Amino acid sequence: MLIIMQPKARQVDITQVLNRLQEVGLRGELLQGQERMVIAVIGEVKSAVTIPFEAMDGVEKTMLVSDIPRAAARESHPAPTVIRVQDVEIGGNQVIVMAGPCAVEGESQIMDTAVAVKKAGAKLLRGGAFKPRTSPYSFQGLEVEGVKLLKEAGKQNNLPIVSEIMAPNQIDLFVEYVDVIQIGARNMQNFSLLKEVGRAGKPVLLKRGLAATIEEWLLAAEYILNEGNPSVILCERGIRTFETATRNTLDLSAVPLVKELSHLPIVVDPSHGTGRWRLVAPMAKAALAAGADGLLIEVHPHPERALSDGFQSLTLENFSQLMGEVRRLAECLGRKL
Ligand code: PEP
Ligand code: MN
Repeated sequence: MLIIMQPKARQVDITQVLNRLQEVGLRGELLQGQERMVIAVIGEVKSAVTIPFEAMDGVEKTMLVSDIPRAAARESHPAPTVIRVQDVEIGGNQVIVMAGPCAVEGESQIMDTAVAVKKAGAKLLRGGAFKPRTSPYSFQGLEVEGVKLLKEAGKQNNLPIVSEIMAPNQIDLFVEYVDVIQIGARNMQNFSLLKEVGRAGKPVLLKRGLAATIEEWLLAAEYILNEGNPSVILCERGIRTFETATRNTLDLSAVPLVKELSHLPIVVDPSHGTGRWRLVAPMAKAALAAGADGLLIEVHPHPERALSDGFQSLTLENFSQLMGEVRRLAECLGRKL
């Protein structure tokens, strides 16, 4: 870190900065410029960034030369992370599709969906049991019963399951039943929940927050990794912009950028990303072209009767058709489905 002093800084101001550095085990080297003094901080960046130097007399600004080492960063782990969920590998050469309804609504709905998505080539079954609905008057999910129905449908079709956790007190239930714990967009910065799933040791699907920058999203992943859980899958699901023609704006540039910045796998959710079922297939294919490791897609046997997100859900037939296209595209990209 460099501490740039104001041209009018006095000797006493400089001494005060040097003393403050010493207090936290750091050292300052003075660089006398034409107009001002610059203090180069020698030592751990972690200690330096905790001090608000700009609040001290005579200090103009600070500049970070190197960042705090991060667990999610590419530099800390040059090879891409591959996450194993039963016999499925996420982050490798295979395109992994996770599919299922927005919410588990009942036995036949989830069973019919599981059979169909398995047949079409999906590798994981998704379904919400605790639903973070914008309105408290909307369907809130079947809760514990929903988790159990999802587990049973997954078991019968040999599909690991993905479901969203909403609160730390649900952790035991999720550890027992769920294979990949989803942190929804609305909870991306629920730090106590992030720490809890970090300690649970199960793979986590971390959705990008509705208004989160890529930096904030990667820092949220850091909370999970720092608890000793290396299995974080990022999920781009669209961000809120001025555009209202789509439910969200699917930020596909996040995919190659995250690949550059991090070793963690990234999947794309074009269902929430667009909010329109007709746009799901084209954006799913665009996501793969951009380098996504996989897709998360909402599928419902009867979207017109769905209790949640029917407008963006594919029918079983449309999903199967999309999977055919994905298979061909994967081949062109030198990957497999
Ligand atoms: C979901 O996957 O159904 C969901 C609620 O997603 P998000 O958190 O991205 O809105
Ligand atoms: Mn949904």
